[in-house]
Amino acid sequence: MKNNKEGTQIPELKDLRPFFSEKGIKMTPQRIAVYQALLKLKHPCVEEIAEDVHKSNPTITIATIYNILEFFCEKGIIAKMRTNSGKMHYETHPQPHHHICDETKDVIEDYYDEELNKLIKAYFNKKNLSEWEILDFHLYLHGKYNGNVEETYNNK
Ligand SMILES: [Zn+2]
Repeated sequence: MKNNKEGTQIPELKDLRPFFSEKGIKMTPQRIAVYQALLKLKHPCVEEIAEDVHKSNPTITIATIYNILEFFCEKGIIAKMRTNSGKMHYETHPQPHHHICDETKDVIEDYYDEELNKLIKAYFNKKNLSEWEILDFHLYLHGKYNGNVEETYNNK
């Protein structure tokens, strides 16, 4: 599924360096290629990341890419999520948002809703969870996608 994020600027190498070093991540050409693929693609799975990475690094294996993805998750610079079909998808953290996932098709959409966020924040403020301060939340909505998967996601 090719679905480039519109308007997303792919950071140049010089801009990635301070970001990586702040997170304690040593920059390697392979890590850079994987991270740049994640910035380019929308909720890609490992195969889609590999397809992009192979353009610049044809010898990198899927296992290496998978290890890099796991490492990035541990470092908190990307998130992963599993669709109902069991496939793992990855994304960088641009800004907090929710997800809608189709029950059977391999489709994940971003869901932004400031109104809902305000409601949930207000709700938990009132709840007064004495020992907890809620910092963030992520809704994972399940649904049935009625759009055309081929047209929306396979327009290469
Ligand atoms: Zn997302």
